[in-house]
Amino acid sequence: MHILFASSEVDPYAKTGGLADVASALPKALAARGHTLSVVLPFYQIVRDGDFALRDTGWSFSVPMEGRSEVAHILSSTEEESGHTVYFVRNPRFFEQGDGIYGDEHGDYPNQCERFVFLCKATLELARKIGRPVDIIHANDWQTALLPIYREAWYADSDILGGAKSVFTVHNLAYQGGFPEDHFRLTGLPPEYYTAERGLEFFNYMSLLKGGLQFADAITTVSPRYAREIQIEAFGCGLDGVLRTRSERLVGILNGIDEDVWNPKKDPHIAAPFSAAKTAGKKKCKAELQEICGFEQDPKVPLIGLISRLVDQKGLDLVAGAVSRLAGGPFQFVLLGTGAPKYHHYFKQWEARAPKQFRTFLTFDNVLAHKIEAGADLFLMPSRYEPCGLNQMYSLRYGTLPIVRETGGLADTVVNYDPRNDEDKSANGFSFAPYTVDALTDAIQRAFAIYPDRRTWLKLMKRGMRQDWSWDRSAALYEELYQTVKTLA
Ligand code: ADP
Repeated sequence: MHILFASSEVDPYAKTGGLADVASALPKALAARGHTLSVVLPFYQIVRDGDFALRDTGWSFSVPMEGRSEVAHILSSTEEESGHTVYFVRNPRFFEQGDGIYGDEHGDYPNQCERFVFLCKATLELARKIGRPVDIIHANDWQTALLPIYREAWYADSDILGGAKSVFTVHNLAYQGGFPEDHFRLTGLPPEYYTAERGLEFFNYMSLLKGGLQFADAITTVSPRYAREIQIEAFGCGLDGVLRTRSERLVGILNGIDEDVWNPKKDPHIAAPFSAAKTAGKKKCKAELQEICGFEQDPKVPLIGLISRLVDQKGLDLVAGAVSRLAGGPFQFVLLGTGAPKYHHYFKQWEARAPKQFRTFLTFDNVLAHKIEAGADLFLMPSRYEPCGLNQMYSLRYGTLPIVRETGGLADTVVNYDPRNDEDKSANGFSFAPYTVDALTDAIQRAFAIYPDRRTWLKLMKRGMRQDWSWDRSAALYEELYQTVKTLA
């Protein structure tokens, strides 16, 4: 199959979160299964300034934008032989206005809607340049949600795109691409696409995400549990009704992890390699992490890690509550993240008060993320909601027991350890359900209680490390879905 896969983030070129990891690893895994993947990403300023070997395709074409035209110039990665090419859409006015992917210190870029309308239009024109009939258009999140609509509205008779079916993946329903109504004119679509029933209108503003949900031939989200959750009001962000009407076309496929990148056996960023069969290297990783943090290098003290965007979704108010209750006890805590200033301020204060127990890195640092996954004993992820979550799977892979709240992908991947009931040997971490400081504190205390029992701890570590989180497993499910979608009328 030829799959046109569009995303606003692709690792290693441009990343703010899990979308980038998925848009890098899933196409790779599908290409390894024999498919042709044309991945499309904007040529952002950070890509321009990054150290990437790109090829100029020489393709330039104009894209109609509100009565004028804008030029898209196409660069590409140089890996065509693997069946997986990343195409970059260049237009300096839209994508080279600053270092950020979505905005700068003043917030989102003011032309945000136009930028991604342009990306969607350019993506479909690019498909015509590539010249090979497309079987599946795979769009991701609101930034590329217009693709299924454009295909239907403008390309139904095209040789290249007329036979294509569309799949739309929701990586996080909370980010909806909502814009004032007058932005609808930027889409260039006829007015019949601006309705509440089957269109972009959503309570008097325009929701691009809603368009993707309504026009895609199939909708996926990134874990089975989240697929169920978003159909109820509490998790539906106002779109649960729309999702319920499309529930037969909605499926949850758990993300995988990129085993070339997240593998403690051959991770170039960590102090020593280790595996389920040979765990000794993890001790060195812990010692190195303690040194980086300025902590005492005591192997017996449990070391908790947290890596996250610092946003309300991630349950950081619970972390603040639980950890301040436990502060002074025998544990160390390292946090890596960027996000809301209130959290920056709060977690920096911790560090100032007890630098031997708390260390806070308020940066985006991929190498340090690897060192934390490898060196910590426990990983905290008490999210309010979590479409899939990658860090808990990285943690399992690195023998770092996750403590998670039972929601979305966290509930699909982490099984709580209960010493009184471990008969089916499936437990691989610790979890709790109510969104309360008490429940998180209790889960952390349960983990601390087990920690000194090294035999049990190692047993749990090895279970997680041996689980299959590979993309190949998830890619097989996407492949099956594509095949089913292709047979739809
Ligand atoms: P989300 O997509 O909601 O941010 P995920 O757990 O799915 O959450 O993915 C987060 C990804 O971003 C992981 O690869 C994680 O390691 C990475 N990440 C988040 N914050 C940082 C940071 N400050 N430094 C390095 N990596 C980070």
